[in-house]
Amino acid sequence: MTQNSKPLHDLTVAELAGQLRAREVSAVEAAQHFLARAASHASLGAYLAMDDEVTLAQARAADARLAAGSAGPLEGVPMAHKDIFVTKDFPSTAGSRMLEGYRSPFDATVVRKLAESGVVTLGKLNCDEFAMGSANENSAYHPVRNPWDLTRVPGGSSGGSAAAVAARLVPAATGTDTGGSIRQPASFCGITGIKPTYGRASRYGMIAFASSLDQGGPMARTAEDCALLLTAMCGPDPDRDSTSLDVPAEDFTRSLNDSLDGLRIGVPKEFFGEGLAPDVRATVDAALEEYQKLGAKLVEITLPRTELSIPVYYIIAPAEASSNLSRFDGVKFGHRAKNYADLVDMYKKTRAEGFGDEVKRRIMIGTYVLSHGYYDAYYLQAQKIRRMIADDFQQAFRFCDVIAGPVAPTVAWKLGGHGNDPLADYLADIFTLPASLAGLPGMSVPAGFGEGGMPVGLQLIGNYFLEAKLLNLAHQLQQVTDFHSRKPEGV
Ligand code: GLN
Repeated sequence: MTQNSKPLHDLTVAELAGQLRAREVSAVEAAQHFLARAASHASLGAYLAMDDEVTLAQARAADARLAAGSAGPLEGVPMAHKDIFVTKDFPSTAGSRMLEGYRSPFDATVVRKLAESGVVTLGKLNCDEFAMGSANENSAYHPVRNPWDLTRVPGGSSGGSAAAVAARLVPAATGTDTGGSIRQPASFCGITGIKPTYGRASRYGMIAFASSLDQGGPMARTAEDCALLLTAMCGPDPDRDSTSLDVPAEDFTRSLNDSLDGLRIGVPKEFFGEGLAPDVRATVDAALEEYQKLGAKLVEITLPRTELSIPVYYIIAPAEASSNLSRFDGVKFGHRAKNYADLVDMYKKTRAEGFGDEVKRRIMIGTYVLSHGYYDAYYLQAQKIRRMIADDFQQAFRFCDVIAGPVAPTVAWKLGGHGNDPLADYLADIFTLPASLAGLPGMSVPAGFGEGGMPVGLQLIGNYFLEAKLLNLAHQLQQVTDFHSRKPEGV
């Protein structure tokens, strides 16, 4: 309990950072509180690795800096990382058997930058294997449960991150978004998450899935917290990530309170077609009405190639994955088969044992679409349509300042609900894939509740580098609604 008797786990990052700075609570107390919560909620399956000694040592160092007056902006705030970010003090598995027990000799740039602003690491969070999935059921270790309904999925691939934040096991977490993996689990778990413009946050130390799409970002309960965290995470990393943009870090909190008067919100008609569940539609419509009350205008726009984003993404992402995952050969790191006849046999057995079904499926699709004779028909075509999808957004942004719509066609489905049908998962990505293919910033903001009392997120998409505008919109919605501060029962 803190002075105003709000339990520590109900504080936002901004509130907790303030109390730490005022020395009303120590970093060690905060770390202990969240370590205990994680332990008592272990059945959610959110964490893959914790190490109390490491966390408490970091917390003691944060307390020393707070005492010495040399504290960073997030000094002592506990956070946990999606297990796709490598960390030297915790194992890094990418949710795969291939990397079971693997320890990186270095920290990912995002992890390092957060640590430099004072963040204390609580542990590593469960995710789909190599971030391939939409339900966290592709983790090689165990699934994650949605804290709003334990029989449902938390979304994926950053499902551990979303569930941990929603259940208040940690004030905030990192996630990565290749085709929606920050936005969709944030929507399913009723929290706030933002994927910045591609290249804003360094990919160094983010275990690669599809390098032209992968982008890290924060997941927290409020837009203000996301803004604080994004400020710490972004910035150029020219020596380590050649695709990181040469755009200086900025203060993403600066325009949270800007007025929305006269702002034009583009509503893509393709996002409101037959496939959208009525409960999600009603919730999204209600959020759009709130924006009108805040002075914004709605403009109908068209993103005509929305449907094509599914085949395009599911060609390009597996193509890049098949190349990126070739490094897991049993030689350099990770799993190696025990019994084998020769080198080729060792490769084969290592990969057969180390990778799960979905990863193997994507490696096969990827190598197929890149192979001689099919490259032009699939991969090259997909690249051309990807460019058209990006151009469609630029057309749309002539008529609006930001775009809003649903994050996903439905609320979170039941664990096992999609059975063995990977296509059902792929189709559910339809509204998040377009912004990913275009490299645009996108976020999910809690907008209300749908079927079964499950959270529904509103997706906001901006033009390149307009993260601050998206955060402004999200923050304004959070001033007039309380969906982001509601708690799942029993939490
Ligand atoms: N669901 C998508 C996929 O399975 C997106 C995953 C992601 O963004 N990492 O590829």
